[in-house]
Amino acid sequence: MSILVLGGAGYIGSHAVDQLINKGYTVAVIDNLQTGHKQAIHDKAIFYEGDIRDKMFMQEVFTKESVEGVIHFAASSLVGESVEKPLLYFNNNVYGTQIVLEVMEEFGVKNIVFSSTAATYGEPKEMPIVETMATHPENPYGESKLMMERMMKWCDKAYGIRYVALRYFNVAGAKSDASIGEDHVPETHLIPIILQTALGQREYLGIYGDDYDTPDGTCIRDYVYIEDLIAAHIAALDYLQKGNKSNIFNLGSNNGYSVKEMLEAAREVTGKEIPAKVLPRRSGDPSKLVASSEKAKMTLAWEPQITDIKQIIKTAWDWHISHPKGYE
Ligand code: UDP
Repeated sequence: MSILVLGGAGYIGSHAVDQLINKGYTVAVIDNLQTGHKQAIHDKAIFYEGDIRDKMFMQEVFTKESVEGVIHFAASSLVGESVEKPLLYFNNNVYGTQIVLEVMEEFGVKNIVFSSTAATYGEPKEMPIVETMATHPENPYGESKLMMERMMKWCDKAYGIRYVALRYFNVAGAKSDASIGEDHVPETHLIPIILQTALGQREYLGIYGDDYDTPDGTCIRDYVYIEDLIAAHIAALDYLQKGNKSNIFNLGSNNGYSVKEMLEAAREVTGKEIPAKVLPRRSGDPSKLVASSEKAKMTLAWEPQITDIKQIIKTAWDWHISHPKGYE
C-alpha cells in the first residue's frame, strides 16, 4: 500500500515525500514538473511524471499503485498570477481536483490530505484566525482552494471520501541538512528573496508598502517551519486512517512578524547588510495574517518543534548557501 503524493516535486511536496519515506511509508509521486524539480524527489519514491488533469494517466497510476491515501499539493499558488489569470487557477486547481476525486471514487480510495491556505479567509477583522471564522477569499487563488475544499465536503457526503484540509499560513525554511529547500522560478516569497539579496544575487529587497496599519507599517505574517508543517500532514493522514471525520485545520505558529522584522532577523542570521528599499504596496496583500493553530494541536496532537524565527531563517540560509542556484 502506498501514499500517493500529488505535487511531490515542489517545495512543500518534496519535504512531505522525504519525511514520509523516513517514517517508513511507501510513497508514489505524481508531478508534471511545471514548477517542481525532479532532483527534489526522494530517490526511494516511485515517480510518475504527468498531470493530475490527465484522467487516463491518473487511472494508470491508480491501477499500478495500491493507494491507501492521497496527499494533494499539486496546484498553482501565486496570488498575483491568479488575479491576472483566474482561469488558469480554476483549471489547474479546481478541475485538477475534480479528476483526482473522480479517480479516487473509481478506485475506492477514501482518504485525502489537502493543501489549503489562509487565503481562503481573506482578511478577517480578528486575530488570531480560527477555523470557524468566515471565509471571504480576496483573490482567485484563495477562491480556488476554497472551491476545492467544498468539492471534498460534498464527495465525503456522497462517496465517503474523507478529507483533512490544512490551511497554511507562510511556510518557511528547509530540511535541516539542507538537502532539499525552496526553489521557485520566478521567486516571489519574502524569505528566499531576502536571502538571495544577502547572497548578492539581487540588488535590494523591495518592501511592498510601509503604510499599513501595523506597528512598523509593513505587513505581518505568520511563518511556520516546513518540517513541522509536514509533520501535521502525517498526523492528519493517521487521523483519517483511524476513521476520524473530515476536518479543517490552520497551520501556523501563532506569532506574527512584519516584513521589517523578518529583514532584521535575516541580517542577524546571515551577518550581511541586505539592502532594502520601500516600494508601493503589492495588490492583494492583507495587512496582517496570524493563525490560531490550537485546533491542530488539540486534535492532531501537533507540536511544532522549531518556532524561533531566526532558527527557521537559518535553515533556509543553509539551503541557499549550499544551493546558490537552487536545484540547477
Ligand atoms: N514581501 C515584500 N517583498 C518581497 C516579497 C514579499 O515586501 O519581495 C512581503 C509581502 O508583501 C507580504 C510578505 O512579504 O507582506 C510575505 O509575502 P510572501 O510572498 O512571502 O507570502 P504571502 O504572504 O503573499 O503568501
